[in-house]
Amino acid sequence: MINPSLLEIEEENTFSKASRLVREYKEAHPEKDVLSLGIGDVSCPIVPPVIEAMHKAVDELSDMEHFSGYGSYYGIDSLRQTILDHEYSSFGFTRDEIFVSDGTKTDSTSILELFSPEAKVLVGDPMYPIYRNGALALSRRVYEAPLDENFVMEIPEEHYDIIYICSPSNPCGNAYSREDLQRWVNYALKEKAVIVYDNVYACFIQSDVPKSIYEIEGAKECAVELRSFSKVASFTGLRCSYYVLPKAIDTKYWKERTINRFNGASYIAQKGAEAVFLPESQRLIQENIRHYHENISYLRESFVELGYEVHGGIDAPYLWIRCPKDMGSWECFDWFLKEMDIIIVPGIIFGRRGDGYFRVSGLGTIQNSQKIMERLKRHEEGR
Ligand code: PLP
Repeated sequence: MINPSLLEIEEENTFSKASRLVREYKEAHPEKDVLSLGIGDVSCPIVPPVIEAMHKAVDELSDMEHFSGYGSYYGIDSLRQTILDHEYSSFGFTRDEIFVSDGTKTDSTSILELFSPEAKVLVGDPMYPIYRNGALALSRRVYEAPLDENFVMEIPEEHYDIIYICSPSNPCGNAYSREDLQRWVNYALKEKAVIVYDNVYACFIQSDVPKSIYEIEGAKECAVELRSFSKVASFTGLRCSYYVLPKAIDTKYWKERTINRFNGASYIAQKGAEAVFLPESQRLIQENIRHYHENISYLRESFVELGYEVHGGIDAPYLWIRCPKDMGSWECFDWFLKEMDIIIVPGIIFGRRGDGYFRVSGLGTIQNSQKIMERLKRHEEGR
């Protein structure tokens, strides 16, 4: 008997459908040089001090004196302490409120296990689709909120128990302002709701928006903040993430749940993650982030020059672009692929209201972006 909730996850508008269409196109046209603006993965390798730390961790596992085995369900203490010292002690948190895990994709929906299955879950439309699909897989009741003209989720009239906010945003490329977040925190406090704040792109923030939701008054009472080493330190394949679960929400039951559901993130990945905070790693990581910013700025300017309506790309590595000629997302995807051998991500993958938009990622290389934009310009000139 298959979980009936899984049947609710639509196959029609997914990344897997886009991947399948690209695969079929490449198989039918093996001679074509297909380039991608869709890559959500990073293009900078892991920096050397982190690699060194992981080599050392591997060696430690080779003798029982330094061996590390079961037991660190919430993360190894040294990493939890490092995260606390660098990012959360100023908000008055303790190490007990920091949890290490193997990825924010997992964390963003596993946190639902803390709350009643009756809890009403609110996600944005469009938004990172995992919140909706992950909640559906857990048979939760999921509702969608539209975004306003600044791509910020509108505050509903009704009561919801769990609210997902993604800022800086995938896919819209914007970040919530202090005022936006204060409104949501006020709503959550009033409704006794919890905000699940996906903050994996915090490292890309350049403008004067909050880098953490805990900069907002009252957030410590109602918000769980999720962060990941994936994008900032190229851990997309290595896997390590962390989150803050404030005591004011609960840590007692969550610890019990976690001991029973998770045996901890990989020791090697955690030792690598600890080294992310070394000054030399931070210096090199900032260079990588500068590279991504340059790339996204180049893409942004090039699309604007071609007359596209472009959003985002300042505080997040994504552009959210309106499809030309009133095309729907899939039509636009087809047009880019078949006319120019370029892959974009159809906006509808992120929710029905994302139709009519497409997403462009700045996490690839500048060389790749330049090739794509030259091809796009040539195509425009040839028409
Ligand atoms: N949250 C958002 C908004 C993302 O865009 C992504 C990855 O693209 C993730 C979470 C997944 O992060 P992780 O690699 O830590 O699972």
